[in-house]
Amino acid sequence: GRAGNVILCAEGLTKDFSGFTAVKNVDLRIREGSVHALIGPNGAGKTTVFNLLTKFLQPTRGRIIYRGEDITRAGAARVARMGLVRSFQISAVFPHLTLLDNVRVALQRPRYLATQWWRSVTALDTLNARAMELLDAVQLADHAHVTAAELSYGRKRALEVATTLALDPEMLLLDEPMAGMGHEDVGHIADLIRRVAQNRTVLMVEHNLNVVSQLCDTITVLARGEILAEGNYDEVSRDPRVREAYLGS
Ligand code: ADP
Repeated sequence: GRAGNVILCAEGLTKDFSGFTAVKNVDLRIREGSVHALIGPNGAGKTTVFNLLTKFLQPTRGRIIYRGEDITRAGAARVARMGLVRSFQISAVFPHLTLLDNVRVALQRPRYLATQWWRSVTALDTLNARAMELLDAVQLADHAHVTAAELSYGRKRALEVATTLALDPEMLLLDEPMAGMGHEDVGHIADLIRRVAQNRTVLMVEHNLNVVSQLCDTITVLARGEILAEGNYDEVSRDPRVREAYLGS
């Protein structure tokens, strides 16, 4: 498809937790423009890999390269400024602010300040217009003047996506975007991810395999801290080792 060069790469990624190896020698290559999923049974090491890639955890061994730059020892804030942004990381939702104010606050965070767009901002009108565009992108423009506390769970998650997009990420990392969602919200968030992914790379940890099959072009399956299989949904779902790992969990 439209996937290009490797944007994020891990080599020999390993994480020990006081003697227990949660992630073992993981090699991962995420291609620019792809929607890549990390799946696997409970305890497989998905969250640990996610936290290593977003720098919330330091690896015991291995390297992480983003856009050709070694970020193994970089902090979470630095990689966020480089455009590798984790949803729900910097994007707190303030319940007593309106949606418009939530997005305006997000637009004034450092990653965004560094962009070309910000330098051209001279008026509050421009800030408001950009905030409304982002709310529109997540289909919340009608609710701009409602406080975040009044939103349904699904819409709150959509607002979090808008505040994350305010940081203008190049690559978005989503930790179980469908967790706790009802059927209808799953559909909305899936549509939203599809739109967001049109001009970005997305890596998600996701349990809902139906969502993964519909959204993701590459899937990496982890089990017991190691990569079991990689490929498109048909390839990995046919793999007998993947079937066994899921049945055995
Ligand atoms: P997943 O997200 O695939 O369910 P995790 O990455 O959360 O898996 O966990 C992988 C393994 O590492 C599990 O056995 C878990 O108990 C262990 N683990 C995760 N975090 C820690 C920690 N901070 N200390 C000790 N063990 C941990």
